Parts: sequence; structure tokens; C-alpha cells
Amino acid sequence: MKHLTGIPASRGICIGPVFPFVRQDLRVESYCVDDVQAEIKRLNGAIDKAKDQISQIYQKALTEASKADAEIFQAHRMILEDPELLKEVKSKIEKDSICAEFAMMTTAQSFSDRMAAMQDEYFKARATDIMDVGSRVLRILLGVAETPTADLKEPSVIIADDLTPSDTVMLDKSMVLGFCTARGSATSHTAILARGLAIPAVSGIGAEILKVSKGTRVILDGTNAEVLIDPDDATVKQYQQRIETAHTINEAAMKHAHEPAITKDGVRLEVVSNIGNVEGARASIENGAEGVGLLRTEFLYLERTSVPTEEEQYQAYKAILDVFGKLPVVLRTLDVGGDKEISYMGLAAESNSFLGQRALRLCLVRPDIFKPQMRAALRAGVGNNLKIMFPMVAIAQEVRDARKVLEECIRELKAEGKPFAENIEVGIMVEIPSAALVADQLAKEVDFFSIGTNDLSQYTMAADRTNPKVADLSNAFYPAVLRLIREVIKAAHAEGKWVGMCGELAGEPLAAPILLGLGLDEFSMNPPMVPLIKQILRGLDSKEMKAVAEQVLQLESPQQIEDFVKEKVPFIAQLVD
Ligand code: PEP
Ligand code: MG
Repeated sequence: MKHLTGIPASRGICIGPVFPFVRQDLRVESYCVDDVQAEIKRLNGAIDKAKDQISQIYQKALTEASKADAEIFQAHRMILEDPELLKEVKSKIEKDSICAEFAMMTTAQSFSDRMAAMQDEYFKARATDIMDVGSRVLRILLGVAETPTADLKEPSVIIADDLTPSDTVMLDKSMVLGFCTARGSATSHTAILARGLAIPAVSGIGAEILKVSKGTRVILDGTNAEVLIDPDDATVKQYQQRIETAHTINEAAMKHAHEPAITKDGVRLEVVSNIGNVEGARASIENGAEGVGLLRTEFLYLERTSVPTEEEQYQAYKAILDVFGKLPVVLRTLDVGGDKEISYMGLAAESNSFLGQRALRLCLVRPDIFKPQMRAALRAGVGNNLKIMFPMVAIAQEVRDARKVLEECIRELKAEGKPFAENIEVGIMVEIPSAALVADQLAKEVDFFSIGTNDLSQYTMAADRTNPKVADLSNAFYPAVLRLIREVIKAAHAEGKWVGMCGELAGEPLAAPILLGLGLDEFSMNPPMVPLIKQILRGLDSKEMKAVAEQVLQLESPQQIEDFVKEKVPFIAQLVD
């Protein structure tokens, strides 16, 4: 039995034969054309056909997956409407008189390479989308049929180098037990789709996985990012047991998804979601989220070629806020710059992007970006329960400066006679160690904190969150991070302010007892985790967990801490093992 590991892309376990997904190579040759205008017409025809195909896949995704997942194909349509990309393809045909296939392929490749070269995982993942769309147009131009998976006759674990979103959607899901990819990341669209469909997936396993021959039985454990190749019967039996247990637990959690999370000793916790668009908003409601703890507004800025206007942002925020009515929605102001590069903003490259002029630091020097966003948010908040949150705060002065800009926006809106949300709560993300260390000072400046453990871990441990070589260190279960969390919660409560958490740790089953014990008020996570975390919190006693948390903070490593929690709260051990 061989054992391979990768990056966890979608939770859950499956057992079955592998099906290697091999994409047909598209051979494109460069040749000259006489009639450039006719070639552009041929290109336009292929683009229109590609858009029709994408619309059909969108409809299929809508019925099979969720609206949020289908949204990926709206983004694909937008790639085909991107004026920069179209301009480049057409100018290659016009200037060099080359065929549409070659112009399309080279342009898609260079756009995709630019995305792939970015540090941020989200942008890296977009490189696959551009190639997916480019290949679709190429197939149409070359008259090649869509990737065949006709041989997929029995439920299988799909093995591929990497899967494009359309590959993933076009596969017959009744035949897909799980996905294993040699490349890819946890933030790739395939991973997002797999999570939306609740199909286990492991990505980034490496080329070794591609050597597994068709029909070989494997066990795929998406939670622990493991693949067991050709396991013995005893191991299969053990994993089957785990599948059954997980199924029972999830069903039970979903039944109570819309009930509040009240601990055994009567403490009510708020369980909310992290979203980036209106589809995420709907998924939140379906899963029983009691609002939004993190609205990542940067998603609105992606896949565009210019900064969204105040009006566009107003419409987008309003559509999301309206889904939640009176439920709270924490809108985080723009968190870009540095690694989260947006080409049209003209930001200078920085040698150490994670420590550069990003997020709030950037917004404070770019009121032309900051003000329209806050004005749009304030206007969209009318009649809803909007809260505004600033990311990447390091010192108290930044909060005061940001609040000044907010006050300015309010004054302007008043003077213009435009309605806006009044008396909204203003908070900050605590995701830089300096902020955690002076949380007592910051608590005086804000109405709430939300702890961003993704960044707090990388800065505390000095371990880049996007570098797989130090992934072990960039882990929020280290006591150094947990001790900072304890101090942040204490400092906020001493000032009578509430504390949430929107980093990934808030959706980790094994972290729930610790965070409850440390006194966290609000847990914010990806929508599908909401029912399970609510269910876990209902099974805990806050006073008992306080003692558990204190003991946890004396341990040394994530492994020790996880083992300790499993021992103290055995029912959670069943969920994660
Ligand atoms: C975080 O840093 O924990 C967080 C939630 O923000 P992001 O992942 O968007 O940086
Ligand atoms: Mg962050």
C-alpha cells in the first residue's frame, strides 16, 4: 500500500478505482492568412460559440452544483469579453497576418503566465481559468470535440495533472467519487467546485499520482490530504467505518443548521460566514449562517480591467446586504496590494510584498479608491445591518486615520442629500502581531475585532502562508498564535467590545473547544462548515472548555494540541479522524 500526501482541497473520504483524466493535446500551428478581416470574423464566430457553450455549462452547474459554483462560468464569459485580451488577439492577427488559432493560443498563454507568476494563490488559480477559456476557443477553431470522458463507466476517483473548471463541471458527477490532482491548490476553482459539491479532493500531490494505473483501488482522504494506493481490506474496512460516521454526523448537523448555537451551559455563539459575492450570501442562508463575519470585497475588483465605480460597488454590496436583511454583514474594505496584485491599479512592485503597502496602508494613501468604496458601502447599508471592518491594522493611528476618511464620506453624503446607514459599528481585523500586542489600545478605537488567523499565523511564525515548504509552521494551532488570540479576546472584553474570528481556524472542528474556552463571541467560516461548527458548539460546556483552553496553551505543538483536544472532547475526534 503506497501513501501519498498533498494539499487538502475538499473534506471527506472516498474509496474506489481511479480513472485517469487525460486531456487531448491541441496542436496549433502558425500560418499566415491573406484576408485578415475574414480571420477576425472567424475568431469572433468561435468566441460567440464558446460563449454559448459556457452558458450551457453554467446552466448545468446551476442544477448540479450551486449558484456560487456556477458563477465561475460567468467569470469565464467575462474573460471572453475582456477588452485587453481581445485587443491583443485581434492586433496579432492584424499586424502579423497570423491565423486566429495561433493568435488566441499565444495571447491566452501570456495572460495566463502573468497570472501564474503572481504570489497570491487566488490569482495563480485564475491562470487555469484563462487557459480553460482559451482552449475552448481553440477547440472550436480547430474543430476538435470537447474532452471525452466516455470511458467513465463506474463511480471513480478522478486523477489528473490539473482539472479545469469546465472539466470538473462536464464530468458526470454520479460517476465521480473524488478528485486527485498532481498540481493545483486549495484555492483553485476545482477545489472550490469540489467543496460546493461536497466531493472529497486532494490537490498538489505531485506527478507520482499520475503513475497510478486505471482501475487501481485508492482511498482518498480530503480532510487529511492523503491518498492510499491499493490499500489492504482491513484498511478499507476502517475507512468505510469513518465514511459512515461522517455521513451520520453531517446529516444530524444539517437537520439543526437553522437553529442557534447554544452551548450546554447556555452560552449563545454567533456562527456566521465568509463570503465574496451574492451567491456566497445565498449559500450562507441555506447553511444556517446568522450573517456575514467577512465580506471579502476584493473579489469585486478581480477579473476586471478597471476599478469598479461607486455605483457598481453600491449595486454589488446592496445585492448582498439585501439577502441578509437585518442579519449583520461585516464588510471588509479593500485588502489588496503587495501579493494581491491588481494590474490596473498601477501599484509598484515591492520586494517583500507581504510586508508592503497593502490593504489599509494602501487605502490610506489612495483616497480615490478608499472613499468610493466606503461611500458605496454606507449607501448600500440603508435598511440593513452593515458593519465596516479595516484589514491589516498595525497601530492605533491607522484606525483613527481610517475613521477620519469614513467621517469625511459621511459628511459628503449628508451634504449631497444621499441616504446612508447611520451609526454603524466599525471594527478591525487583528491579523498582525503588533495589533494583537496592543489590542488594549486598539479596543478603545473600535466597536469590534475580527481575528484573521491566516495572516496572524504567517506573521507570528514568520512563515509565508503561500509557501508549501513552510506550511507546517504557518499553522494557527501553534501556542504562540493561540496565546495572542487569548490576549486579543481579553483586551476586547475588558473594553466591553465583541470579538469574532474570520480566519480559517474559526471553521476548524478541533479549534472550536479552544476558541469557545478563550471566550470568542463570533465564529465566521466558509458556508458549508456552518452546520457542523454549530453542532459542535452545542455539544460543549464553556466552563469546561475554559480549562481545556488554558491547558492547551501550555503545550508545544499543533500535534500535541490536536491530540489533547481529541482526548478531552472525544466526540470531535470522531468527526475529524
Ligand atoms: C486572515 O488573514 O485570516 C483573513 C481572514 O483574511 P485573508 O485570508 O483574506 O487574508
Ligand atoms: Mg488577512
